[in-house]
Amino acid sequence: MAKRDYYDVLGVPRNASDDDIKKAYRKLAMKHHPDRNQGDKAKAAEEKFKEAKEAYEMLSDAQKRAAYDQFGHAGVDPNLGAGRGGPGPEGFGGFAEAFGDIFGDIFGGAGGRRGGGQQVYRGNDLSYAMEITLEEAARGKDTQIRIPSWDTCDTCHGSGAKPGTSPKTCTTCNGSGTVHLRQGFFSIQQTCPHCRGSGKIIPDPCAACSGAGKIKRQKTLEVKIPAGINEGMRIRSAGNGEPGSNGGPNGDLYIEIRVRPHEIFERDGDDLHCTVPVGLTTAALGGTIEVPTLGGNAEIELPEGTQHGKTFRLRGKGIKGIRSSYPGDLYCHVAVETPVKLTEHQRKLLKELDESFRKSGDRHSPNAKSWTDRVKDLFK
Ligand SMILES: [Zn+2]
Ligand SMILES: [Zn+2]
Repeated sequence: MAKRDYYDVLGVPRNASDDDIKKAYRKLAMKHHPDRNQGDKAKAAEEKFKEAKEAYEMLSDAQKRAAYDQFGHAGVDPNLGAGRGGPGPEGFGGFAEAFGDIFGDIFGGAGGRRGGGQQVYRGNDLSYAMEITLEEAARGKDTQIRIPSWDTCDTCHGSGAKPGTSPKTCTTCNGSGTVHLRQGFFSIQQTCPHCRGSGKIIPDPCAACSGAGKIKRQKTLEVKIPAGINEGMRIRSAGNGEPGSNGGPNGDLYIEIRVRPHEIFERDGDDLHCTVPVGLTTAALGGTIEVPTLGGNAEIELPEGTQHGKTFRLRGKGIKGIRSSYPGDLYCHVAVETPVKLTEHQRKLLKELDESFRKSGDRHSPNAKSWTDRVKDLFK
């Protein structure tokens, strides 16, 4: 089944505010709650719930939403999780786990717990779209990209507090970073809304970093694009995403590959296809023609009487895919070109040729003859 548009799933317009998205999700989450969907309705409700949850995770993250708006489902991978401590698709466990997350999302901050006390957050994953040529995809490429990075603030040395002051223990959670929240039918341990799980409050924030303790900069990353990479593939650069908080690990950076359309070749898996225009007389008389390949020109021997649409396969002249042992093939599709802008002389010659063809019957155009016969049969 085709994946539904995230905006459709939540029933919000494409320009919906973050608040509208949150409200729409909350409504759906309540509607598909397991307590209200027992027995045979449970399975469908769970599916609906997961669909809404995924849509919410994507659209509530500004960066993922931008990627989705630009590239659709190809631009985002729901299996990455939104700053969640757990792993990818396997981390998406049962309903209870998923449902616990809603409150995390709604009441600020989603994050896995590491041990007791303060909540530890894994940093968000980042994605970077990189456009390369078909030649680069075939041969691989070493390149550099500029990505955001975060350094410890020099002014406060990471504490987030103005020099000369220090962070205080949060009085709401007594420094534990979590509070217990009663939500009708169940009670859950919740990230402290006051200190956002850090267990500390900074009364006098550092001016240089606004209390964050870190400063966003740019850094250069060496990227090795492997030979054979294809459109839509992603390269993971572990730990180069956003930083975690409270000692949590960094997110990862995903470089998504887009291959620019090529003027001559079209790629299909490891194979390449190209159209080779051939003059009428060359097609009729046969001859040698030059065709391009990614590794320079090659030659094809056209036999006499080559028809339009005839395909010639050049073995091994395609692309060797990342997981392939052999390169694919290059398929050259012959396109016979009818001559244009004839001179008087050429027109006369063609008329003479036509006369000659007529005199010796249908045998020069076997396809046209069988077609005419079939049309005749049709009207019998
Ligand atoms: Zn600072
Ligand atoms: Zn607190």
